[in-house]
Amino acid sequence: MFKAPRGTADILPEEQVYWRHIEGKAEDTARLYGYGRIDTPAFEDASLFTRSVGEGTDIVNKEMYLFKDRSDNELSLRPEGTASVCRAYLEHGMDNLPQPVKLFYFADIFRYERPQAGRYRQHHQFGCEAIGEGSPMLDAEVISMALNFFSSMGLMNFSLHLNSIGCKKCRPIHMQKLKEYYDPLKKGLCEDCLIRLEKNPLRLLDCKKPGCQEAADAAPKSADFLCEECHQHFQSLIHYLQALDISYVLNPRLVRGLDYYTKTVFEIQPLEGGSQSALGGGGRYDDLIAMLGGKPTPAIGFATGIERIVLNLKSQNVVVPGPAKPTLFIACMGDAARIEALKIAASLRDANVSVIVSTGDRSLKAQLRQANTVGATSAAIIGDDEVKAGTVMLRNMENGEQQEIQPEELKRLLSSQQ
Ligand code: AMP
Repeated sequence: MFKAPRGTADILPEEQVYWRHIEGKAEDTARLYGYGRIDTPAFEDASLFTRSVGEGTDIVNKEMYLFKDRSDNELSLRPEGTASVCRAYLEHGMDNLPQPVKLFYFADIFRYERPQAGRYRQHHQFGCEAIGEGSPMLDAEVISMALNFFSSMGLMNFSLHLNSIGCKKCRPIHMQKLKEYYDPLKKGLCEDCLIRLEKNPLRLLDCKKPGCQEAADAAPKSADFLCEECHQHFQSLIHYLQALDISYVLNPRLVRGLDYYTKTVFEIQPLEGGSQSALGGGGRYDDLIAMLGGKPTPAIGFATGIERIVLNLKSQNVVVPGPAKPTLFIACMGDAARIEALKIAASLRDANVSVIVSTGDRSLKAQLRQANTVGATSAAIIGDDEVKAGTVMLRNMENGEQQEIQPEELKRLLSSQQ
C-alpha cells in the first residue's frame, strides 16, 4: 500500500471546513487592507532562494527540495513565499506602479524538516507583502492586519513578539559582539551553533536546543546596537502600536530563520506552545529587492501557516461554519426512474439547487438512509408509478411528510429556497 510521503498530509473532506473558514477570512482581510492576490510557481531557480533566504540558514543548508530538470536547470520547490513575490514584482515591472504594491498569496511551501505536530515537509501559507514603502507606519499596519486576521477567525490566546535586528550598517556591530560573547562559551554549544558562530552568529539566538538557552538569553541584544535610523524606526513603530492599543512582547531573541530581514521582525505566538509553534511571522526586508537586481526598495511582509491555524482553532474549540449540505436527495427504483432522476437532477442544478442522485441498485430504505447521512433536507422518490404519472414523491427528511409533486413545481419550490 502506498502512503503519503513523510511530512505531508491529505486534507480530508471533514477538515476542509477549517480550510475554507481560514481562506475566507484571509481573503476578507486582504480585501479590507487593499491587497491583491498573486500566485507564483511552486518551483523557481534554486539560486533565487539561496541568494535571498541566505547561505547560512537552515532553509538553504538543509531544507530545500532541490532538483535538476531534464534540461539541467537547477530548481527548488519553494521553501518560502516572499522571494517569489519579489521576483514577480521585478519581472512584471511593478516597481513602476504607485508604491507600495500590496500583494497576498496562498502557497504550498516545501521544507525538508523533521516532521512533528504542526511541522510538515509540505505546508501551506497565507502571506502578504507590501513592497515600496519604508515608513514604520506600514509596519504597524501590517502587524495590525496579521493580528486582525487571527482575531477574525475566532482565535484567542496569542501574543505579538517584536524585535528589531537593524540594517546592514548596524547589524555587523551586533554580530561582532555576539562572536565576542560566544567565543569563550564554545564548549557548551550544540554542533549547529558552532557552525552558526562561524557563518551567521545572529542565528545562535534562534537555537531551540535546551543546552544553548542560557547563553542565548544572556547574549548581546540587537536593540542595543541599532544605528540612529533603525532606532528611530523601531521607536516610531512602538509609538504607532501603542496608539492602536496593540500589546507586544519585546523579544531580543527573535531573529527569524531567513537572512533577508532588516529592522522590524515579529512573530505571533500562541500563549501555550512557545516559539516553535508560531502561528505566523514576518518583518521588513529593505534590501531584498536590490539583492534580486532591482533598485533599492523597502518592503515588509508577513506569512502564516494554515496547518498551525487549524491546530489552534481545534484546540480552542472554535466553531467554524459547517459544510454546505445538499438540498435534495433523489432516490430511484427501476431503469426508467433512473433516467428521470438524472434529468430532474440536471434541471435542478441549472436552477442552482444542489442535488445528490442515488446511483446504483440499492433498496429504497438504503437510499433514504443515505439521504439522512448526507444531510439532505428533502428527498425525491421516483418509482415506476411516479414515472407513469410524470411526478415525484417529495419527502421532508425532518418530519417524514410526503407529497406528490410535478418536477417543474419541485424546481420552483427548491430554487425559491436558495
Ligand atoms: P516562516 O516562513 O518560517 O516565517 O513561517 C511562517 C509560518 O509558517 C510559521 O509561523 C508557521 O505558522 C508556518 N510554518 C513554518 N514552517 C512550517 C512547517 N514546517 N510546517 C507547518 N507550518 C510551518
